[in-house]
Formats: sequence, structure tokens, C-alpha cells
Amino acid sequence: MQSDRYDAVVIGAGIGGMCAAALLVKEGYKTLVVEMLDHMGGRFSTEEVDGYRLRTGGCGIHFEGMVPKVFKEVGAKLDIRPNKSELCYRLHGVDHWVSLENRGVKAMLDILGKTDVNRTSIMGGLAKEIAGEKILGAFQRSHDLSKKEKGTVREWLMRYTDNKDLHDFFDMTTTNMGMGRAYEFPAAAFFYFMANVGGMADTGVVPMGTIQIYDELSKVIKSNGDIWLGSPAKKIMVRKGTAASVVIEKEGNEEIEVECKTIVSDVGPEMTSRLAEYKDYDDNFLSDMRVKMRPVPITLGAIGSEKRLWPPEGKTSGHLTPLGLRRITAVMAITESCPEMAPSGHHLLYFVATPPSTLCPMNPDVEVSEIKMDLEELFPDYERYGKILKIEPRNIDHFLPEGRSWQSPSFCTSFKTPVKNLYDVGDGVIAGGAIGSSGSAESAKKAVDLIKKTVKR
Ligand SMILES: Cc1cc2nc3c(=O)[nH]c(=O)nc-3n(C[C@H](O)[C@H](O)[C@H](O)COP(=O)(O)OP(=O)(O)OC[C@H]3O[C@@H](n4cnc5c(N)ncnc54)[C@H](O)[C@@H]3O)c2cc1C
Repeated sequence: MQSDRYDAVVIGAGIGGMCAAALLVKEGYKTLVVEMLDHMGGRFSTEEVDGYRLRTGGCGIHFEGMVPKVFKEVGAKLDIRPNKSELCYRLHGVDHWVSLENRGVKAMLDILGKTDVNRTSIMGGLAKEIAGEKILGAFQRSHDLSKKEKGTVREWLMRYTDNKDLHDFFDMTTTNMGMGRAYEFPAAAFFYFMANVGGMADTGVVPMGTIQIYDELSKVIKSNGDIWLGSPAKKIMVRKGTAASVVIEKEGNEEIEVECKTIVSDVGPEMTSRLAEYKDYDDNFLSDMRVKMRPVPITLGAIGSEKRLWPPEGKTSGHLTPLGLRRITAVMAITESCPEMAPSGHHLLYFVATPPSTLCPMNPDVEVSEIKMDLEELFPDYERYGKILKIEPRNIDHFLPEGRSWQSPSFCTSFKTPVKNLYDVGDGVIAGGAIGSSGSAESAKKAVDLIKKTVKR
């Protein structure tokens, strides 16, 4: 087998891995990034279909989050465009518009207050106003409740109301923000999340798609390192309890063993342990990981059209949140902010759909058929003026799930592994109080800060 040598090897070119690699290079470590796919970015990237630019996962970047901070630190340019500033909740076929800043529980309670009294007055024995006050009050005490609450979000809400619309709203919120269904997501974890994560109001998108941000990071990495695409890591070699080398299938050719002083893995803690063949992984670490890792199933979709399907004339909002549908929980009209994402004059809608359980495997055929019914309900003209560019169910065993676990610290493991000089980065090791890309970039920063102190260049 051929061999090579770098100071650091980063496995996986997702946002966490790419941030780690750029930070390592900035600190003077000669760094190799190996990526299994033929493009960078993992779940935070872009692919092209029929001239439309589709997301592979996330696309919203927090202006004040860790991604811009890491870019600044490594001297890479980052061009983010603000999202359009309205959100539309669709409830029983009626659209309700709120500003992004004012979205949330208060907005939903106001909307419900204005809708049909007969349908919304069943508040589990409490008058509507009292239930509303109690629910809002709970949000003001999120910090306390994040420590105290037992049971699921649904059980917590049931104390105040059995109103289906409000339950649908909370289910949509936990699913879109925390990635777990309200009847599966622990209330304590949800309140922690709400107390610490500012939501998605302060986000923007990259005009030609998130894949663009990796060109800038690549320049930094290539100043003292390399990026091998189409090159899966096959094995992490551990000698005397210390990370020693990575066996890589380089660009479809024969395997090569790359010796190094430290390894940063962006493939998720579970896959890292498998690549290391569980060497020096003790039972406590492995059992903790098994309990905490909850890869989230999702279906990603996109519709391209020659006619604007949504938003309606006179509205420029980019976000539609339908309540109580079968599967679809969020729609984003990306061409409202970034017309560059579609062929000239065309329109592009992204959507995401969640199966009934975020814990169990889904049946992809059932998901696709339910999603199509949702699409017909949401956009009756979609087949006449446009076409589905993608419906991609990613089950819980997919290597790029929606998230490696629910977005709360109680479901994340440490970025430190039991193997010396082997670190995990990415959204399986988010510390809490951060969302996807921000949390992944933060994990990269933490890992590199520790490497700086412990591994000589
Ligand atoms: C639908 C959706 C919407 C989202 N929305 C947002 C959002 O708006 N904002 C936000 O901040 N976050 C969002 N997220 C979350 C965000 O996308 C993820 O948290 C983030 O991309 C995770 O990055 P990561 O560093 O963990 O790496 P990943 O994206 O998981 O990348 C890992 C990389 O490792 C590679 N790999 C795997 N195995 C190997 C191997 N053996 N050898 C070499 N390479 C390997 C993979 O190919 C991949 O490229 C969203 C996610 C989804 C799915």
C-alpha cells in the first residue's frame, strides 16, 4: 500500500470538516481533507438539476453565527443575502402573514384568536385567554422549564389545551426547529432549545447556493494542504490508544495510508467509531452514543416552474409553513430572494417533509405518495406549470440524515473521542444553543482549539 504524511487528516468535507480544515491550516498544520462524494459540503451544499440549483440539506446561515466567525478568522469571504422578511402560516387553507421577527407562539395564538371560535374554543377545560397566557408564560420561563419538565412537548401542551391547531403548530415547530415530532420530543429539551436558539429570523442565503462557500474555504486549505474528492476513508488506524493514520481509497484508485498527528472526523460519531473499528472505545462511551444519536429521517424536495406557484401576487415572502398537512412542514420560495437559483424567469420552491415518527425508519413509497397529495393541496397548478425536480426520502440509516440527533445538548455527544488525537466535528457533537451549520462550525473551532494546545505542528 502507498503511504503519505500530513499533520492532520480531516474525514468528510461537510461544513464542520471544512471549517476544521481551514482553521487547522491557519494554525500551521499541513492538512488533508478526504471526501467520499465528488463535491464538498455534505448536507450544506448545492446540486444542479435541469438548470435549477437545489439544496442538499440546509441553506440558511446565521449572520451572527459561528460560520461567519470562522470565515472571518481564516480570512475567507462569505457572501450572504438576507431572506425575505415575511412568513406565511397556512391554516385550514387560509394564509396568515407575520413578519419573521414576530413569528412564533404569540403570532399563532393571535391567529387562532381571530379564527372560528367553535373550532378553536376547545381549550382542554381552560378558557382560551387563560390557556394562551399560560402557554406564553411557559416560554418566558423556558430556562427553568428546560431543567424541570418531564414528558414530551405534546404532554406539556395537553395540560393547557387539546386544540388541534395549536398542537399542529407545536408539532411543526419541534419538527422544523428541533427535528423531532412533538409527541416524541422531550419538553425539557425543547425548552432548552427555545431558551438558547434564536430561531431562523437572523439568517440569509448564499445567492448561487451554499456550495459556493467552499470555494473560499478551499483556497485557504490548499495554501497548506490538499482536498481529495471521491476518496472515502476506509479505516482509522489507532496505535497505543492514539490516532495514527487513515486508510483512504484515493480517487477510485488503490488504497493509500496517510500517517498524521491528529484526525478530525466529520462523518458523525457513530461512523467515526466504526472506522476506528471501536478500538479503545469503551462501553460507556458507546452506550451513551447509542442512546443519544437519533438520526432524523426527512424527505427533501423541489419544484421548478415557469409560472410562480407561490407566494401570491403582491407578496414577496419566501417562507410558507403549512399546518396540519400529511407530511410537508416547510416550503421556501428560494427564487424570491435568489432568482439566480433558477433558469431566467423560472421559479424554484424547496420543501421538506417529515414522516409520522422521527425515531423509526420510514417507508419511502408511502412518504412520496403522501407528499404528492400535500403538493396538490398546496399548489393545485404545480403539474400544469412546473415539475418535481426532486423528492428524496432519506431514511434514518442514510449517511446524510436531516440531523445526526435532535438539536438539544441532551442528545449530543462530546467532540472528544476515547482515542487520543481523534476528534469528531459536525452536528452530531453540537454543544447546544446552536443550530446545524453554526453548531458544526463551533464544534470545529473547539476541536482545533484543543489540537492547538496538544498537538505539535
Ligand atoms: C433539510 C435540511 C435543512 C436544514 N436547514 C438548515 C439551515 O437552514 N441552517 C442550518 O444551519 N442548518 C440546517 N440544516 C442542518 C445542516 O445542514 C447540518 O447540521 C450540517 O450541514 C451538518 O454538517 P456536518 O459538518 O455534520 O457534515 P455533513 O453535512 O454530514 O457532511 C459529512 C461529509 O462526510 C462525507 N463522508 C461520509 N463518510 C465518509 C467517508 N468514509 N470518507 C470520506 N467522506 C465521508 C459525506 O459525504 C459528507 O460530505 C438542515 C439540514 C437539512 C437536512
